[in-house]
Amino acid sequence: MVDGPMPVVHLFEEAKALDKFVLGGKGYGLVQMAAIGLPVPPGIVITTAACKEYYKTGVVPRGLFEEVKAKVARLEKETGKKLGGESPLLVSVRSGAPFSMPGMMDTILNLGLNDQVVKRLAQLTGDERFAFDAYRRLLQMYGKTALGIDSQEFEAILDTRKKQSGVELDSKLSAEDLRQLVDEFKDVIRARGEEFPQDPWKQLETAVVSVFRSWENPRAREYRRYYKIADDIGTAVNIQVMVFGNLGEDSGSGVGFTRNPSTGEKSLFGEFLSNAQGEDVVAGTRTPIGIETVDLHLRDQLQQVAKTLERHFRDMQDFEFTVERGRLYLLQTRNGKRTAQAAVKIAVDMVQEGLIRKEEAVARLDPDDAERLLHRTIDPRVKVKPIAKGLNASPGATWGKVVLDTDEAASLGGKGEKIILVRPETTPEDIKGVIASQGVLTARGGMTSHAAVVARGMGKPAVVGCGGLKLHPTEGYFETETGAKVKAGDVITLDGTSGTVMLGEVPMVEPQLTTEFRTLLGWADEIRRLGVYANADTPEAAARARDFGAEGIGLCRTERMFNAPDRLKIMQDMISADSIEAKSAALRKLIPFQLNDFRGIFKEMRGKPVIVRLLDLPLHEFLPEEPRLLEEIATMKKDGREGPELQRRERLLVKVRQLSEHNPMLGHRGCRLAVTFPEMYDVQVEAIIRAAIEVRRESGDTAEVFIMLPLVSEVEEVVFLRKVVDAAAERTMKDMGERIEYKVGTMIETPRAALTAGEIAKQAEFFSFGTNDLTQATFAFSRDDVEAKFMAKYLEEKILPVSPFEVLDATGVGRLIEIAVNDGRKARPGLEVGICGEHGGEPRSIEFFNKVGLDYVSCSGFRIPVARLAAAQATIASRKSSSTV
Ligand code: ADP
Ligand code: MG
Ligand code: MG
Repeated sequence: MVDGPMPVVHLFEEAKALDKFVLGGKGYGLVQMAAIGLPVPPGIVITTAACKEYYKTGVVPRGLFEEVKAKVARLEKETGKKLGGESPLLVSVRSGAPFSMPGMMDTILNLGLNDQVVKRLAQLTGDERFAFDAYRRLLQMYGKTALGIDSQEFEAILDTRKKQSGVELDSKLSAEDLRQLVDEFKDVIRARGEEFPQDPWKQLETAVVSVFRSWENPRAREYRRYYKIADDIGTAVNIQVMVFGNLGEDSGSGVGFTRNPSTGEKSLFGEFLSNAQGEDVVAGTRTPIGIETVDLHLRDQLQQVAKTLERHFRDMQDFEFTVERGRLYLLQTRNGKRTAQAAVKIAVDMVQEGLIRKEEAVARLDPDDAERLLHRTIDPRVKVKPIAKGLNASPGATWGKVVLDTDEAASLGGKGEKIILVRPETTPEDIKGVIASQGVLTARGGMTSHAAVVARGMGKPAVVGCGGLKLHPTEGYFETETGAKVKAGDVITLDGTSGTVMLGEVPMVEPQLTTEFRTLLGWADEIRRLGVYANADTPEAAARARDFGAEGIGLCRTERMFNAPDRLKIMQDMISADSIEAKSAALRKLIPFQLNDFRGIFKEMRGKPVIVRLLDLPLHEFLPEEPRLLEEIATMKKDGREGPELQRRERLLVKVRQLSEHNPMLGHRGCRLAVTFPEMYDVQVEAIIRAAIEVRRESGDTAEVFIMLPLVSEVEEVVFLRKVVDAAAERTMKDMGERIEYKVGTMIETPRAALTAGEIAKQAEFFSFGTNDLTQATFAFSRDDVEAKFMAKYLEEKILPVSPFEVLDATGVGRLIEIAVNDGRKARPGLEVGICGEHGGEPRSIEFFNKVGLDYVSCSGFRIPVARLAAAQATIASRKSSSTV
């Protein structure tokens, strides 16, 4: 054994026991494929450890290149070729991080060529055209990657050459053309004050360092930020013997998916370009042909490969392959990115095929994708004529304003405008524009181009390879095959499901759960321990919540019931009335409205719990804002419109001023309102109880009624208000001659309530955490101010890892919740405890709520499937962690 650091360079066959974090995803896939006997060109992996070291010290780890040299010598021996030698070895130097980042980092192909080697290669292959094509590609990639030269510079020269020679495709350029291109490309590099290194070892060293550095390039960083991939895991580097797809018509390159990544359908899917290197397919510069049209022999081989891959990796694979003079080689495999729809279908199918277990299927789907699965679709009743048709690369429909420039897209989208990014093709540089847009439309590129892969991964509708699309970015418009002319800023609708583009905003219909998705969620329900409730305050929302699988309503906000225009006026009259009698009279007018709402909701939720929160909002929220009132009053006076309307506004103005608070967040709201004006809750309780009894009379059953007091901070508030609630309930039941069960509980949303939960639990029959207010009060953060003014900076400086309004802060807010749950249950065994508020639909928060032992989470409609999945995954994770302890 030699002393010294652990080896960081391995031949593929030496690395079978190493994982993705060490080998990177690409290295891992190559090593595994080689191990199961698939035809993989030999190669070596420099592990992520080397890249991490490089970032720590700023220099290449000592001894790295010696190790590389020793291993390359083994490759040379195996292939009988030599880097720069008589029979020249050419390699690719490929990036590959632990998490797949399609096209975000750099790769250099055909390395090992120089002015001499290119000639030998031409002789050996008998194909001069090919040899110079390979060389010009090397120069291009080297220039871009190692020297940071804009690839457009090379592309422009290439285009000029094509025009001069009167050809349209790269592959039609002659050997002479390519020879000239090589010279011109060298000049581009020279203009940078560099000389393309003739020594292949020098090329190799530079390439390795370039790959390390590409980990930090802007698009890779942007991608990591979007996917929340850590910045310090680094990339591996793969050095692999080249095979050539551009050696004539019996050669080519392609990408295959073992199942359809858009729909999940179980059939080989992919694309192929003959006489091309893989780069041509994935970069989206040429539109390839579908795999179903390649010759039968190759198709059979690929089918076999797909089967082997799936059996080994037990998941849908996305693989790259090259055919060199009739021989198939595999160059990459990874778990394929897929639409949420495909993810569900594949997981369910694989369970049914006996490939994976139900638990695995449930664990596999990213809960956030569950929401995306609920794509809106074009209303099938609407007949509109598409202005263009392309490939349906990523499903779902969306609309937005046309933007032709990536930077502009990023800035407009960042401001919250709905935009559609329209590009000739999308290159990885467009990533920030894609992130900021609703959908993507491109003229070129296939279903497996990076643009399509990335859009599918993000759940953004995309139509790519839209032939006939002519872009005029400088003039600010594009034209389509049908003759339509669309200006930047015009609204278009994309239908990524059918691959069509339409003018204007086309009506869409609300999404539905598919059968497969219902199956998967059914499995999640068998596994999960946490209940999943909905936040809903209309009968329609309640119906949808039930359909999405909610087991109850965890938060029915009553203030919204006052906000409809017909009721708002009564509410305002109530607020501005001077005497208690006048106030009460106005309030009672609201009972019929509330009664109706509750009746509808209780009917929907028969047999299930509905937690109704009594009025929580400060009263001023029901009044117009002062400047608007002032303006209206001024106009009315000027126009001489004196009378009751003017008087009404003047009264409102007085009230608005009276009710204005120094700090509304800490002001007269929540149960404090009812302490000063108990009639408020009295009428609400009457409406609730009456509705519940009426529904039971009509249909024999009704919802379980829970009445919830908001913003409690002291148990005596509960004591005081329970009397109000119970009195109103008693009166109503007596009046109706019928009794009904109901429970009274509190929201726990102030730190003091959490800390005195033991006392409160003696007076409250259930708890529900309002995590938004609790977070605000615990941090002393006023959410709107914080988010508008400094949260971004806090995240950037890593003062906070993530906004506590997005993911529950387990350390502070979570501590309070744990205390309240424990003390509350000690005082009242079996106390039902749940969470309402947005955190209830957030997977990482759900994991925490599961751990703390809450009974249920509650969230809004579309998040319900997310919560069902996340709750099941939390159970699976907790089983795993308890079995490993
Ligand atoms: P990315 O995954 O970012 O697209 P890759 O490392 O896969 O980058 O390389 C880009 C393209 O070059 C791919 O199409 C790949 O198949 C092709 N390629 C990489 N290495 C080789 C090789 N040794 N022989 C032939 N083609 C290769
Ligand atoms: Mg690749
Ligand atoms: Mg609140």
